Amino acid sequence: MPKIIRSTSHLAGRTLQVASTADIILRPREVILTFDDGPRAGKTPAILDTLDAHGVKATFLMLGSAAKSNPRLARDVANRGHTVGSHTYNHVDLNTLSRQAALDEIARGEAAVADALGGAGQGLSPFFRFPYLSQSGYLRTTLLQGDIVVLDVDIDSKDYFKDSAAVVMARTLERLEARGSGIILFHDIHQRTVDMLPDFLAELSARGYSVVRLAPKNTGVFSRSVITAEAQGVSEAN
Ligand SMILES: [Zn+2]
Repeated sequence: MPKIIRSTSHLAGRTLQVASTADIILRPREVILTFDDGPRAGKTPAILDTLDAHGVKATFLMLGSAAKSNPRLARDVANRGHTVGSHTYNHVDLNTLSRQAALDEIARGEAAVADALGGAGQGLSPFFRFPYLSQSGYLRTTLLQGDIVVLDVDIDSKDYFKDSAAVVMARTLERLEARGSGIILFHDIHQRTVDMLPDFLAELSARGYSVVRLAPKNTGVFSRSVITAEAQGVSEAN
């Protein structure tokens, strides 16, 4: 549960309608909050409560396996107005797979998250993040051609390090101040992230930042023939 509500809706910024990665252009003092690897019982609900307390919307890049295990939680994220994208099925380093296996892993993740959501909220959005930020030019180009919006990371909170919540918060704020705006990477699977988020959002508010909500410009992510279909026409040769 959020500890103290010290700020209200003025932290909520504009909604950015995005059709491609190139559309994600932030103004000074704007941030996008992203949470990867969930949903997870005992962690994601607390993060949702904190986001609600500050009236801000985030983007959750869910693992297909986690969404399949926690479909009610996945739907809760979407129903509370957050944007849901995907992050593969099993959090595989895609550079260790063949091209086709990598595309299959991405498609399997998308399908599982979409299935768990069952149309809740705005359903699955075409946002995708590479596990370990491990990508290749081939995969990135193929995804972009398939109307997937690859979400990069400007500020890595490194909340997966075994640091205290205070250290994660200080590190994230320092990187944000150095850059002035950006997409922030968190994970809704760690207690330290749950613990730091109320203070972090209060500090963002105090420093005059706003949280931009990402929204897909084109709905109906599965109207495209998913990436596997496209990949079949692509030669393995360079
Ligand atoms: Zn991840």
